[in-house]
Amino acid sequence: MARRRDFKLRALVDILILVSVLTTLSVSIIVAYHHEKKSLTQTTFELNKIYADKITDTVNGLFVNLKQGFEVTGAYIVKDMQSEKMGEILDLLQQNHTSLDSITLIDRSGVIINTTSNLKRMKGKKIAGAIEGLFSQHLAGISDPFLMDSDVLSIAILQPLLSDDGEFQGALSGTIRLHESNLFNTLLGDYMQDVDGTYAYVVSSSGKLIYHPDPTRIGDDVSRNAAVQDVLRRIGGVQRVTNTKGVDMLASYTYIKESGWGIIVQTPTESVLDDSRHLVRQILIYVVPILLAFLVVIYVVIGKMAEPLVKLANYAQRLTASNLIQDEPPRIHSWLYEANKLHRAFGLAVRHLRSDFDHLSLDAQTDALTGLYNRRTLEAYLHNLISNEKSFGFLVMDIDRFKLVNDKDGHEMGDRILQFVAATMQAYVNSQGACFRYGGEEFVILLPNMTMGEAMAKAECIRKLVQSSKGPKGKKVTLSIGVASYPETTHEADKLFELADKALYRAKNLGRNRVEAVQKESLFGG
Ligand code: GH3
Ligand code: MG
Ligand code: MG
Repeated sequence: MARRRDFKLRALVDILILVSVLTTLSVSIIVAYHHEKKSLTQTTFELNKIYADKITDTVNGLFVNLKQGFEVTGAYIVKDMQSEKMGEILDLLQQNHTSLDSITLIDRSGVIINTTSNLKRMKGKKIAGAIEGLFSQHLAGISDPFLMDSDVLSIAILQPLLSDDGEFQGALSGTIRLHESNLFNTLLGDYMQDVDGTYAYVVSSSGKLIYHPDPTRIGDDVSRNAAVQDVLRRIGGVQRVTNTKGVDMLASYTYIKESGWGIIVQTPTESVLDDSRHLVRQILIYVVPILLAFLVVIYVVIGKMAEPLVKLANYAQRLTASNLIQDEPPRIHSWLYEANKLHRAFGLAVRHLRSDFDHLSLDAQTDALTGLYNRRTLEAYLHNLISNEKSFGFLVMDIDRFKLVNDKDGHEMGDRILQFVAATMQAYVNSQGACFRYGGEEFVILLPNMTMGEAMAKAECIRKLVQSSKGPKGKKVTLSIGVASYPETTHEADKLFELADKALYRAKNLGRNRVEAVQKESLFGG
């Protein structure tokens, strides 16, 4: 089974906070961006629509005015169309309608019989192109763009002239040259300068460009454009379209009632997105430093919160790794209630553990009856002294005729004598050495840093002390002692006991209650 990964508390909390802060920031930015984009798009549509409507009203008013002027003048002219004075009348009419480049008078067969003075060369010519379609239907209206004088792209406003009895006599026609300075340049040209790339264009009722900021495009058929299709169906509105250059545009459009033309005002969508991105940048500039500061504070606070737990965890790890139960628990001063509770509980548990451990280890090291160190501890002491190359005196002692005590006074008295002997030697040796119960009524004393001579002297003192002290119930107790020393009498730790025990044996043989040193011959196996 796969092992589950452990996460460190601090790393986990840090990651969680970082993730939530980043998520919140991203969500806020996305929401702000979309909201801003939506509202800017809406505003752009509305502003462009207002502008398109305004242009439409102006142009429409112009046409209504033109139409009225042409109607009034037409009723007057029709009475004397061939008059030489007609040229002057047409010039006067043009002065009243400065949006027109020229005015022509056409007879019923479609021949130009008179013009304003700037177009005299056309006199006698027959009309052709888009104007001719309107003319032949005897209808008032505005033509599609056509080439006048074979090279000037123009549109014409046509007013049929009828005699009193309603007979068609010809027409009055005003023209606007599309490539020259005209009413559209005046009305729409300024919009081209707009920094956000907004511009306006005008299409005729058949979908041809009548005005465009790029003059080379005037006359182009743009009827496939979705916004143009709407205005041709006499529907105004707003929509997102792609222009002929493939640029995404926010277009607002409306149509001119009198002429059926469409006015389209559009702004590149990218400029709105740019503004929205600007907002995002602003948010980032203001919010990111604050968030960073916030994260730093959180990081420090979490560090402080986790610190006691980290210390306790490290301490617990040290305890389990090395059994260093003597190690003090870490000092912790936290303002976190839970951390303090945990720390207190931890300290208490360790103290209990340590005291249990101390008890157990003391029990394991000592002899229950006498309280002296036991044989196992003797071995540890010896090992320690020898591996540290310390010299020491080594005393092996045995109570004389102890069996008799047991036999005569009972085992309990025997035990009390054992305790008495142990206490006496322990009190004497005190800090100069260590006393061990080797087994039964045999004891060992280690006297570090003592020569053979010093050890002999100490043994003698102990022997005398025990002999002269009154035991339980005034009993007299004596000891026999064998003395060796390391490394004086032997370098071999294994032989130490054997040699001292031999000396002890000799002391017994020589009458007991005496001290015997390891003899030279016994060193050589004698
Ligand atoms: P010796 O002078 O030769 O040493 O004579 P001894 O009677 O002391 O002989 P030995 O040392 O062989 O006797 C050991 C006796 O110590 C045997 C045993 O009954 C007694 N003994 C051993 N351990 C204990 C103990 O824990 N309590 C008591 N009461 N007696 C013990
Ligand atoms: Mg014995
Ligand atoms: Mg004995």
